[in-house]
Amino acid sequence: MSSASYVTLKVPKDFEKSIDVVRNIFLRKGIENMPPNLKKYLNSKHCPLCNKKMDNQKAKLIYRCHECGISKPVIDIDTSSIDDSLPLVGGKGTLVGLGIYALAKVLGEINNERRT
Ligand SMILES: [Zn+2]
Repeated sequence: MSSASYVTLKVPKDFEKSIDVVRNIFLRKGIENMPPNLKKYLNSKHCPLCNKKMDNQKAKLIYRCHECGISKPVIDIDTSSIDDSLPLVGGKGTLVGLGIYALAKVLGEINNERRT
């Protein structure tokens, strides 16, 4: 049994359709056929905001940064095949988590550009 806890989010139906569109692309192509930059992003274990190594103590389902609180679904693309793409990226919550992580990554890059 998972030790991850859940909340209910209310999203517009159009967003749910977008999740289905993206999920279907993942399922049709398989993780192993994703572009290298996306594979690197999916496999990342570092916080996009503070670059600390993230921890995955929540039943190995979620990486979490203890410095700033950002979290990301655990996706091990090295051991994934097209057959197990569904549980890895098929869940709507997983795709929401990846989307937020992607947004945080862009924000982290903006922050790093300002520091240099
Ligand atoms: Zn962080």
